[in-house]
Amino acid sequence: MSIQHIAVIGAGIMGNGIAQVCALVGINVVLIDISDEALEKGFAALTSNLERQVRKEAISPADRQAALGRITLTTDYGVLGQADLVIEAATEDLELKKRILKEIDKLTGRDCIIATNTSSLSITELAAVVSRPGHVIGLHFFNPVPMMGLLEVIRGLQTCEATYTAALALSDQIGKIAVAARNRPGFVVNRILCPMINEAIFVLQENLASARDIDIGMQLGCNHPIGPLALADLIGLDTFLAALKSLHEGFDDPKYRPAQLLKEMVAAGYLGRKSGRGFFSYE
Ligand code: NAD
Repeated sequence: MSIQHIAVIGAGIMGNGIAQVCALVGINVVLIDISDEALEKGFAALTSNLERQVRKEAISPADRQAALGRITLTTDYGVLGQADLVIEAATEDLELKKRILKEIDKLTGRDCIIATNTSSLSITELAAVVSRPGHVIGLHFFNPVPMMGLLEVIRGLQTCEATYTAALALSDQIGKIAVAARNRPGFVVNRILCPMINEAIFVLQENLASARDIDIGMQLGCNHPIGPLALADLIGLDTFLAALKSLHEGFDDPKYRPAQLLKEMVAAGYLGRKSGRGFFSYE
């Protein structure tokens, strides 16, 4: 059975991208955030991304209009009752996500699948707070969602086979390639990526090279399409720090300790692209 109605919780970088890809393939999407301001910001980003796709002739103007017509914005969790699938894409904070999952559990139908887009938190621990933990799964999208072909599908210890099969079907439905991962901090991709970006920040904080040269080094020396510091800015330094902390605490291994410079930049509110300033400036 294909998914018809999705609710996406959190209209930030990831939530608005997830809403966009789902709406483009014909799924009705409710995008939920805590304020009208956050919803408007997310919707503006989504609209301009669709516009860019039209300009590149990746989609037609009619596709864009149809996708926009399938998206509803609200701050009211009461709409969750209609969803076949809820994808939680709110701020990376364990206690917040537990609260949101409990709310989803109360408000959705018994067959509804509850997915989280967490980058690093335990799917098993999140699933444990709901009454039907078998319906919980990790759907880890990549940024920017409309451009990136991968979907990491993470089963918690409790996730049932039907939920996993439905997640793989959704991945097909929205044109992503799924890879299966076990529930460990960082899953597969972030387990490898986060220490690499963190090391680039250590290199910067040691004044070994400038931000520009570190990024050019990795782009031209390793054939990466984007340098590690620009990638951290794209991810959001607060989100990246939260992911590193999960790896550090989850494995209790000092090799994942966040660079001091990263912690200071987050404390200063330099969060990367979303705040206009990170390792590079986006004014
Ligand atoms: P973001 O800061 O851009 O957006 C988070 C949004 O969640 C904000 O709009 C915020 O207002 C909203 N929010 C907070 N509390 C809420 C609540 N109770 N109900 C509804 N909305 C709420 O963050 P993001 O980068 O979109 O990250 C979201 C999730 O996706 C995190 O779990 C993150 O780890 C994960 N993720 C991020 C990336 C990335 O590159 N940024 C990649 C993969 C996964």
